[in-house]
Amino acid sequence: MSPTDCHLAPEAKRDEEIWFEDGNIIIVAGDTAFRLYKGILSAASLVFKDLFSVPQPEDGETMDNCPVIRLPDPATDLRHFFRAVTKPDFSHLRHDYKPAFGMLAAVCRIGHKYQADEVVDAAAARIENFFARWPSTAATIISKNRGRMPLTWELFWWAHNRLCLTAVEIQDAFEAVGLARLLGRPSILPFALYLCCAGDPLHMRDGVPRPDGAVSRLSSEDYLRCIQAIPKLRAACSDKIRSVLARSMTASVLSDCTNGGQCAEVFEMMHRDFIEEKYVPVVTDLFASIRFLRTKPVAYTTYYLCLCSKCVLRLDVIEYGGEAAFLTKVFEL
Ligand SMILES: [Zn+2]
Repeated sequence: MSPTDCHLAPEAKRDEEIWFEDGNIIIVAGDTAFRLYKGILSAASLVFKDLFSVPQPEDGETMDNCPVIRLPDPATDLRHFFRAVTKPDFSHLRHDYKPAFGMLAAVCRIGHKYQADEVVDAAAARIENFFARWPSTAATIISKNRGRMPLTWELFWWAHNRLCLTAVEIQDAFEAVGLARLLGRPSILPFALYLCCAGDPLHMRDGVPRPDGAVSRLSSEDYLRCIQAIPKLRAACSDKIRSVLARSMTASVLSDCTNGGQCAEVFEMMHRDFIEEKYVPVVTDLFASIRFLRTKPVAYTTYYLCLCSKCVLRLDVIEYGGEAAFLTKVFEL
């Protein structure tokens, strides 16, 4: 390449992945240059279509005889977006394709800004599926186990990632809240806000850094929603425990007690002490059966060894605070 062919700032380097040798437009973000095709970008994005319809100035920046356009977006986000619209690797055709949340979010952010509606719809639907489908995952685990296996938060989270075929970390919820607002997809909000409450409290205050250096932060309004919701989520968890203990006391339920029904008295003492106890569960305990609570009530640890092997399993009954409507109400959405 002769010096006259290239007027690109020397700090910009060719991207190793998004560089098509016969591409007809070069897009520079920070110190990264992408070489792509105008036609493909125009088909995906209204903003790029408009941009390319304007004749480029003759003395504009060029490289390899290609016009150069500079964008202010992070190169990492643009790479995800360009990969999605120009370079399918067919992984999405595999039955176990499990995209990472960060990739889907970057495609949504850039796609929304450049009005690439179809690719945004596809990525946002994947995110929406994860955040709106939690009651279905809970129901699936319970029905498959038929009460034989206790539920833990870790089991729920693993199963939910697996059933939704999306790789999400709890702290991704902060960005999901922002995307729900940006894209007008409110069904993402209840579970995303719940996860914000379930994670590191400092993230609620300070936000979560993204790879591009930006920080995903709750708005003051959503921060307040979370702060006000945490006591309600804990109360729902306590109600669940109380309800399981109360039901376990009844003789009809104790028909298979190997202590001749005497476990009813043990449940009664557990229930009585639990009501007196100032028990503070963690937020994710909403998804755990009593034996697998993160912090166990003293009433449970005091008496559970007195229960027979049949009756102790009664404590694995799961009672949720309900379906999606429960979280919608808790967060006052
Ligand atoms: Zn028993």
